[in-house]
Amino acid sequence: MSVSAVPAVAADSSVCAPLAVLGRDVTVPLVTGGEVTYAALDYAASAPALQRVWDDVAAYAPYYGSVHRGAGYLSQLSTDLFENSRTTVAEFLDCREGDQVVFTRSTTDSLNLLAAALPAGCEVFVFETEHHASLLPWRDARVTYLDAPRTPDEAVHTLERALADRDPYGPALVCVTGASNVTGELWPVRELAAAAHAHGARIVLDAAQLAPHHPVSVRELDVDWVAFSGHKLYAPFGSGVLAGRSDWLREAEPYLAGGGASRKVTRRPKEAGGGVDVEWHDTAARHEAGSPNVIGVYSIAAACKALTEAGFDELVAREQRLIRTVREGLAEVPAVRVLSLFGDDAPRVGVISFVVDGWNSSHFAAALSAEYGIGVRDGLFCAHPLVRTLLGGESDEPGECGAPEAAPGEKSLNAIRVSFGAGT
Ligand code: PLP
Repeated sequence: MSVSAVPAVAADSSVCAPLAVLGRDVTVPLVTGGEVTYAALDYAASAPALQRVWDDVAAYAPYYGSVHRGAGYLSQLSTDLFENSRTTVAEFLDCREGDQVVFTRSTTDSLNLLAAALPAGCEVFVFETEHHASLLPWRDARVTYLDAPRTPDEAVHTLERALADRDPYGPALVCVTGASNVTGELWPVRELAAAAHAHGARIVLDAAQLAPHHPVSVRELDVDWVAFSGHKLYAPFGSGVLAGRSDWLREAEPYLAGGGASRKVTRRPKEAGGGVDVEWHDTAARHEAGSPNVIGVYSIAAACKALTEAGFDELVAREQRLIRTVREGLAEVPAVRVLSLFGDDAPRVGVISFVVDGWNSSHFAAALSAEYGIGVRDGLFCAHPLVRTLLGGESDEPGECGAPEAAPGEKSLNAIRVSFGAGT
């Protein structure tokens, strides 16, 4: 942490009080020498891996070997652990019989994979409020961007209206987040899925922010696919999941071409023009070419088991208490405005974004870090249209970091986000 990068202003200490009770304290060495105890409150970006996950990974690490590629003991062991991880994830998500679990790098990767697997002519419906990972991968398809709803019911009606106009016989996909990475608000996934299906469309749930906080049941929500990332689910970086219906995935070209995805590769006779013919797998392996991230996949499965064993009821109850503490504390600071699309009473997870009147959010966040040892995120959180809607204006500013000063009383151009979970 470079102290010289921090502006010489003190963040309003009253904002720190509700934040100070949160987060996992870590000791961080200062560049200038010494150490600070630091509350890391950026779980929505990446949550700290659970000790149980590190322990499981450490126990396996000395034995890892190639997956699906070797006759040796370590290779067999690794292949078993890799395939068992698929089963663990399928159980964690309460998948249907016949659903596939494809291991990817992240939620972004999972949604791009699905975008690459859309059937010809597929229409896509997505709210403009989505995280960029859900908003952007579909641009090669015919996309309808839906206006920001102000209530969960309005979200459902907006989707229904848009779907009513579509060709009912063509393929269509709705992409929706389960919990917002900006407001923490829960979206009415079951109702949106029912609306999608009533109009012959399918639905993919971006569960990047939902899965770490709530149980996700593919069956109960009746969604066709779910995507999430390990590093937000208390596992280390590098792995993600796309789980759900196998038909579109089986029929699509492999996401990556290469070893592992191909069942049989043969040389074409010279008289037939030469080259090679390929038969691709029709299992999840079709989209997992190359040597897989076995440690990353194993750690996702370890996190799924740890969360299930800890019990979501207990985790949710604890997190809701923390959310109340922070929101009530922030409500007492007149300069703070908490951002919300669906209103104060909407059900939510531990993600809270706010602006402080008269403050540039980047400076405020830097001061929280340097002066109070509280690490938050500032910016537009890879959801530029949503944050700009919530801030009440359009802006061409880059927005992430380094947005210009907002004078007292002026609109902020970016926001501050604190996020946490009860998993640690
Ligand atoms: N979807 C949501 C709602 C997110 O919050 C994020 C990351 O912040 C993503 C998708 C993308 O996740 P990843 O960066 O792991 O691909």
